[in-house]
Amino acid sequence: MAKTMHYSELGLVNTKEMFKKAMDGGYAIPAYNFNNMEQLQGIIIGCVETKSPVILQVSGSARKYANQRFLPYMAMGAVQMAQALGGNIPIALHLDHGDSFDLAKSCIDSGFSSVMLDGSHHAFEENAKLTKQVVEYAHERDVTVEGELGVLAGVEDEVSSEVSHFTKPEEVEEFVEKTGVDSLAISIGTSHGAYKFKVKPGEEVPPLRFDILEEIEKRIPGFPIVLHGASTIVPEYVAMINAFGGKMEEAVGIPEEQLRRAAGSAVCKINIDSDGRLAMTAVIRKIFSENPSEFDPRKYLGPARDELIRMVKHKNETVLGSANRSSKFGMRNTE
Ligand SMILES: [Zn+2]
Repeated sequence: MAKTMHYSELGLVNTKEMFKKAMDGGYAIPAYNFNNMEQLQGIIIGCVETKSPVILQVSGSARKYANQRFLPYMAMGAVQMAQALGGNIPIALHLDHGDSFDLAKSCIDSGFSSVMLDGSHHAFEENAKLTKQVVEYAHERDVTVEGELGVLAGVEDEVSSEVSHFTKPEEVEEFVEKTGVDSLAISIGTSHGAYKFKVKPGEEVPPLRFDILEEIEKRIPGFPIVLHGASTIVPEYVAMINAFGGKMEEAVGIPEEQLRRAAGSAVCKINIDSDGRLAMTAVIRKIFSENPSEFDPRKYLGPARDELIRMVKHKNETVLGSANRSSKFGMRNTE
């Protein structure tokens, strides 16, 4: 039986103050997924260099991959590294798409400061019941909880759906009230994975349903909203992967200007996973292709990490608006 650890022992914070400031300031907190050291360091360095608060997130399978006993110490290392780099940025560790009370509890007990309970594949009542159960356990420990209403299309780790079901605005008020969640992920046309939308040349990506978002904002004013599946699927990375022996189908993601618009609304958290994967894979492919004799992992993982840093800085500065927002944070939650 592993020792129970509270996130404050790791130097982490929950998402409460982050979301309040993001709501007031008209920007969104970046939530970057990671599985390994180079990704984690790339995210942290990019966020320290842009003075951005950050949510580090892992899916259940990423937690398994990195090892659940090891993972909290990676987050602790990230906090220490950020401080050593002179960036006292607020850092949360979040479970992405938790599918059961047991998983959420296990994460909370091991040092996560925030968890998602994704019961969106269940009927409303069952989703609300499951979410509320996690909220009760989490809030006793000052851990924040994200719920979800509506289903995104696409594939991401353990979540997949062929079609999207937009969130029904008429359900959000009751869900938030019944469950006590701290934030709500909604489905307004974003999509999981690298193959979000296929469009023919000259065609536009289907725009996000800002009408649904506005209707939701009206019903739960000032409540933090989360967008999943919000990678842009940076075309340069896909082109680079294909130019150096990869085989990725052409696909497009969510245009940056739509994400910027969302970040200015009640959307307080924007999830980015695929773009980080593409950035590292593109660089690694290029290096292997140009230097077939290279076998030192630092020689390809290092430049891959550098590219991730560039990507994170770009997102924080020009897409989410989270750059230069890390000051004036109480590093401990004070509620
Ligand atoms: Zn997601």
